[in-house]
Amino acid sequence: MENNSYILMQRYELGRQLGKGTFAKVYYARSLITNQAVAIKVIDKEKIMKVGLMDQIKREISVMRLVRHPNIIHLYEVLATKTKIYFVIEYAKGGELFNKVAKGKLKEDVARKYFQQLINALDFCHSRGVYHRDIKPENLLLDENDNLKISDFGLSALAESKRQDGLLHTTCGTPAYVAPEVINRKGYDGVKADVWSCGVVLYVLLAGYLPFHDSNLMEMYRKIGKAEFRCPNWFSPEARRLLCKMLDPNPNTRISLAKVRDSSWFRRGPKSKEKEVAPAGTEVSSPSENNMAAEENEESGRPSNLNAFDIISLSDGFDLSGLFEKNPLNREARFTSREPARVIISKIEEMGKHLKLKVKKKDHGLLKMDRLEEGRKGFLSIDAEIFEITPTFHLVEVKKSNGDTLEYQKMLEDMRPALQEIVWVWQGEQEQTSQEQQQHEQEELPQNQPQL
Ligand code: AMP
Repeated sequence: MENNSYILMQRYELGRQLGKGTFAKVYYARSLITNQAVAIKVIDKEKIMKVGLMDQIKREISVMRLVRHPNIIHLYEVLATKTKIYFVIEYAKGGELFNKVAKGKLKEDVARKYFQQLINALDFCHSRGVYHRDIKPENLLLDENDNLKISDFGLSALAESKRQDGLLHTTCGTPAYVAPEVINRKGYDGVKADVWSCGVVLYVLLAGYLPFHDSNLMEMYRKIGKAEFRCPNWFSPEARRLLCKMLDPNPNTRISLAKVRDSSWFRRGPKSKEKEVAPAGTEVSSPSENNMAAEENEESGRPSNLNAFDIISLSDGFDLSGLFEKNPLNREARFTSREPARVIISKIEEMGKHLKLKVKKKDHGLLKMDRLEEGRKGFLSIDAEIFEITPTFHLVEVKKSNGDTLEYQKMLEDMRPALQEIVWVWQGEQEQTSQEQQQHEQEELPQNQPQL
């Protein structure tokens, strides 16, 4: 298979081998339908069943489905035959970050960029109850734009697999990168263990070699247990400070990811521009048809008009959005207002100031609200679009155009009271409640594992 091309299920043409893991080989491939370049991870079913790893593979699938982020390798689909499982995943053209470091240490600004992307993606995973548990440069890939992509969720754990003490109990990871509490097998907190591994990665990026290294494995474990490492003289004082806090042998006092993101070293230099790297199919929403209609509206500066179809589809009883939207959390919020457009605009501007959002007025009654601080999935950006039904009756649609969905949900909650004075009715309040109940009922049913 290495040299000849091979057609998989009449859908993918497999090419050269990209890499090899313990139970899998990864190939470059191209979709015969869309011509898109992808990577395909081929897993031998028999091998993994022999060592009882089928559950781990199923977990990798659930985890990859759960975490969609510009800095995490995207799982497109899973195919299976009698003997093999195929993960069709995003292709990272730049290969492993490890190869860059193997050539020597990185400049501080370059290391910072990768580190920022790593921490943002991991913080996002943690917010969804997922820990990676095997963070190391070999599992950090680069795309064609030199953006970092976390791969290999084979060892990741979901919050559900915690024991009653709330700690994880499987020893996993790669010796040089694992936290002392993981080695001690006393049970560990996946979040804190990932922070340690990121500390080791940061050290490796800046130094070009490992912080804990010894030809004798026991000696290496001893050094890890005591966090016995030395920073080379080219490390800046801020980088040293941050490393000492991340490589704290006591998980209880070890720095949190939120504090890492707040540290002066992390915040210095150019920030990761996630807005530019978000690939198609992430949670970043695309312009709605209403936006497009607004673009066609020649009279700029004024709110867009709604046609009868828009009004029907926006009204509760005829709301068809559920048919199209995959993620109910991501959905837009709408309210009607009996105020004129200028009053609505000035209220939104006032609210923006209060909530520390930069509000920009665009054409056709569109307001863009950007958060000044970077969130876990880039900068949160929210659009509010005002549609005129009559000069004193408007519909306002609020939706996320960039950033993390949970941060967006939280911001929406803060916006509601701030807009109270101009809101006549929030649309879909009743409907949303019944949907939430349905969703809750579904969550209580046993989850179907993918059939392999
Ligand atoms: P894994 O089994 O996920 O550890 O993958 C083994 C190796 O295959 C990695 O270390 C990479 O060199 C390569 N690889 C894995 N996934 C991809 C990908 N999505 N794009 C490019 N190379 C990959």
